[in-house]
Amino acid sequence: MPRADYQVVIGLEVHAQLLTTSKLFSGASTSFGGAPNAHTSVVCLGLPGVLPVVNRHAIELAIRAGLALECRIANVSEWSRKHYFYPDLPKGYQVTQYEHPLCLGGRVVFDTPEGEKAVRLTRIHVEEDAGKLVHEGAASLVDLNRAGTPLIEIVSEPELRSADDAVEYLKALRDVLVWVGVNDGNLEEGSFRCDANVSVMKHDATTFGTRCELKNLNSFRFIKQAIEVEAQRHVELLESGGVVEQETRLFDPQRGETRSMRSKEDAHDYRYFPEPDLPPLVLGAGDVDSIREALPELPRARRARYVTSLGLSAYDAQVLTADRAFSDFFERCVAEAHEAKPVANWFMGELSRLLNETNTTVGEVKFSPAQLAALLRAVKDGVISGPGAKEVFAELFATGKDVQVIIDEKGLAQVNDDGPLLLAIEQALAESPKNVESYRGGNTKIVGYFVGQVMKKLGGKGNPKRINELLVEKLKG
Ligand code: ADP
Ligand code: MG
Repeated sequence: MPRADYQVVIGLEVHAQLLTTSKLFSGASTSFGGAPNAHTSVVCLGLPGVLPVVNRHAIELAIRAGLALECRIANVSEWSRKHYFYPDLPKGYQVTQYEHPLCLGGRVVFDTPEGEKAVRLTRIHVEEDAGKLVHEGAASLVDLNRAGTPLIEIVSEPELRSADDAVEYLKALRDVLVWVGVNDGNLEEGSFRCDANVSVMKHDATTFGTRCELKNLNSFRFIKQAIEVEAQRHVELLESGGVVEQETRLFDPQRGETRSMRSKEDAHDYRYFPEPDLPPLVLGAGDVDSIREALPELPRARRARYVTSLGLSAYDAQVLTADRAFSDFFERCVAEAHEAKPVANWFMGELSRLLNETNTTVGEVKFSPAQLAALLRAVKDGVISGPGAKEVFAELFATGKDVQVIIDEKGLAQVNDDGPLLLAIEQALAESPKNVESYRGGNTKIVGYFVGQVMKKLGGKGNPKRINELLVEKLKG
């Protein structure tokens, strides 16, 4: 941790891959994996004379992300060339948005132990990804499968003040992007990646310190660790009379330290200029409105609604909205069952367990909301017992059969009629006169023993509540 008189200042740049099937400026596939260079085209190879065409779907997804993050969407944005030399960049420049990005402002709202916080965004722009190098012995091989893949870069203002907040910001951002179907949120595969800009300043300082940009942060744990060690490095440098050099640094997870990669002084002059092969991106009237109208309820709003109008706990709301499809299916079941808590219990308990066990997703579930509602009714009406309901649910999950059919097939209908219950009770009492006496002598706990005996006689299908009531009556004599 930095020394007490310093505070850390963090600004994050997140690159999120847009979930399109083809690339930003060509029809080549964006699918992950595949043989090296299988997913390329003359455009991503940068062959002379070819012209890019903007992927409409990529722009729609970028606008959707912008709206979900409360940005202003620019009616006119522009493409620029950012030049640098690297073997994985065939054209020698990256097409990106520089002076006029697609989305401006906006914010990410997240929870911390000190309460809700919001960090403002500077901008979101659209750009193409580069390829990658594969190092094999002394040789470096170029794989351009990823070259030209559409990305959005989400740039925050330098408003974060702790590594923990930075992680919560990123989790909330990822949550929104995945929820609205813009990104798959995979840090390991690099489809959601983050660079962290870190500086430190005294609490009473009025200007920011010099920042370093950290790269190679491919897990939340590394992001937190990298920010903390980097801030500590700055404090130690300053306290020993040194100065922080503005530079790009690589986090080394093995050694838990950051290392200089390139200094800003010899950083490339990117020679940005407007992309001559692409006209400005002009949105049509109603383009943004139609995307806004199709935007789903966002996770934070939904969580709040689960608490205020469904009466669920904040914890339940959190678990139920961890996945959009899961939450959407929950909504449909609640609408059918007209009550939330019992549905929530099935979702968080048995349904989650079975999905996990069978390694399936909620989209593959075989039963309908109406069938789950029928199961809830059967429990409520005492047609089946609690344990019986679990058995029915397991069968419902496995086969999607009608609830009543399952109850009949498995013989799970509960015995609710007093006649057969009383018969079994009389037998049980007659078999243990000593225990009857013990009850009458004040040992009322013995009732549990009799409930067990009666249940045994009824093959476990007696209504336990009614058995208890009738037993107490009989035992009192
Ligand atoms: P660059 O293009 O060099 O990356 P930007 O102006 O786009 O520079 O800033 C990148 C990120 O750095 C932003 O997220 C911003 O919030 C953050 N940032 C700027 N100044 C500081 C600072 N002094 N300390 C920490 N982060 C900073
Ligand atoms: Mg940067």
